[in-house]
Amino acid sequence: MRMNEFDLVVIGGGSGGLAGAFRAAGHGARVAVLEPGPLGGTCVNVGCVPKKAMWLAAGLAQKFQMGPALGFSGGPPQLDWKEFIVNRQRYISGIHASYRKRLDEGGIMWMPCRGQLQGDGKVLTDTGNLLRARHILLATGGYPTRPAISGAELAGTSDDFFNLCDPPARVAVVGGGYIAVELAGVLQALGSHVDMLVRGARLLKEFDDDLTDALAENSRQHGIHLHFDYSLQALEKHPAGGVQTVDKQGQRQRYDQVLFATGRQPNTHQLGLEAAGVTLTGSGHIQVNEYQDTSAGGIHAVGDVASELALTPVAIGAARRLMDRLFAGHADARLDYTNVATVVFAHPPLGTVGLSEKQARERHGDQVKVFKASFRPMLDALADSPQRSLFKLVCVGEEETVVGLHLLGEAADEILQGFAVAIKKGIRRRDLEETVAIHPTSAEEVVLLR
Ligand code: FAD
Ligand code: NDP
Repeated sequence: MRMNEFDLVVIGGGSGGLAGAFRAAGHGARVAVLEPGPLGGTCVNVGCVPKKAMWLAAGLAQKFQMGPALGFSGGPPQLDWKEFIVNRQRYISGIHASYRKRLDEGGIMWMPCRGQLQGDGKVLTDTGNLLRARHILLATGGYPTRPAISGAELAGTSDDFFNLCDPPARVAVVGGGYIAVELAGVLQALGSHVDMLVRGARLLKEFDDDLTDALAENSRQHGIHLHFDYSLQALEKHPAGGVQTVDKQGQRQRYDQVLFATGRQPNTHQLGLEAAGVTLTGSGHIQVNEYQDTSAGGIHAVGDVASELALTPVAIGAARRLMDRLFAGHADARLDYTNVATVVFAHPPLGTVGLSEKQARERHGDQVKVFKASFRPMLDALADSPQRSLFKLVCVGEEETVVGLHLLGEAADEILQGFAVAIKKGIRRRDLEETVAIHPTSAEEVVLLR
């Protein structure tokens, strides 16, 4: 085999691309990965990992605030933002190093360049190399979008948030989805005045309404200013520095920083898709079948570029199964996209798996039964904080098969995973009821729901 010939060329070294490369190499395939940016893509560099680090710091800051009410004396410790960022980036450098080591150990060629399809199993790099492969994996992820309004360039996105050297004193976060909720929560807990400018009537509109209402209430109690049905018309430079928002009524508000968290678009530009015969969906994603095959033979796609379920474990899961099919003979290997659990790292976190009550009622009508528990976690009760958790179980039919579980509260992020396994296995409510509780925890509320 010549040096520029591979079994698999992966375009994009993020969550999906690297997972695919490692799995294929493990099956003995000769693999090249094209990635011009830092290894790990969005999740490692400007997504899950730095976000979780900030969320952890924010959670600590909130706990410190509770100290005096619990009897601790001395002011809460202050965060040195710059020092924390150094620690965060050192952690991320460790991930880069471990990826480089795994690429070396797997005999995978990493080329720090962009790739473009040329048709006929060929990929041209922007450094002028022509590669040929039996299979090509497109895993180019996505990028944050900005609304088409005047002055949009004056605002940052989540990418810019991770470059902040200091916390902004006054910040507007535009959007009401995952990223808006997460960034607003972190910034508020770390001392910023936060206005959330939400165009709709609620946060996280794909999630269960009861939980998002409870999240909004908890967010308000923390001090986040929520502006629903807000119509942002323009951004302007403020003569004294900073940016001002202009709403539909012409009212202006000045901020040190405005952040857009208004969705992401798949990265499909300059990939040579058309020439290679790869078609897109109406939403601009690469069209794939349930096996991650595109419309062009030998070209496959995973992750944010091909899926509206833009989550790291989804990209990884789809890539691994694809490689098991292509290089290990597992003819039926494919990712099941149903009942994927997900957590929004808000304060407190909101975790969800399966159907919301609304979705369940649309599908199953009055076969649906709902069980809820609203309670104050012990620490909040001890500190006399009004924060409440809300757990909600959605069941269907005589057997009360569990079709949805929605958790808002302390440790929901950690609690949900195990229940997601159970729901995937088709448990009924009585299976939960027959499970002895772990006391005293928040998690026990799930098996005690009546
Ligand atoms: P990416 O990780 O985006 O990787 C794509 C790579 O392709 C990039 O490195 C890019 O440089 C490269 N590329 C693009 N074009 C080319 C080209 N022509 N040639 C070569 N390379 C190219 N998900 C979770 O599950 N949990 C979370 O907590 C979470 N938090 C998030 C927080 C934020 C702020 C954001 C933005 C996202 C978050 N996500 C989270 C989503 C998660 O990051 C993505 O779903 C995941 O990274 C998608 O992986 P991917 O491999 O599809 O793409
Ligand atoms: P989302 O799709 O979650 O939310 C986008 C938000 O922006 C919505 O509230 C939307 O409103 C609003 N919006 C869209 N366009 C405009 C506009 N022109 N003006 C004002 N508001 C607008 O996208 P995110 O950017 O928050 O996140 C992208 C994806 O990344 C998520 O869907 C998720 O898959 C992934 N992610 C996962 C995380 C996790 O797992 N914890 C964390 C962060 C991201 P409307 O609802 O009215 O359309």
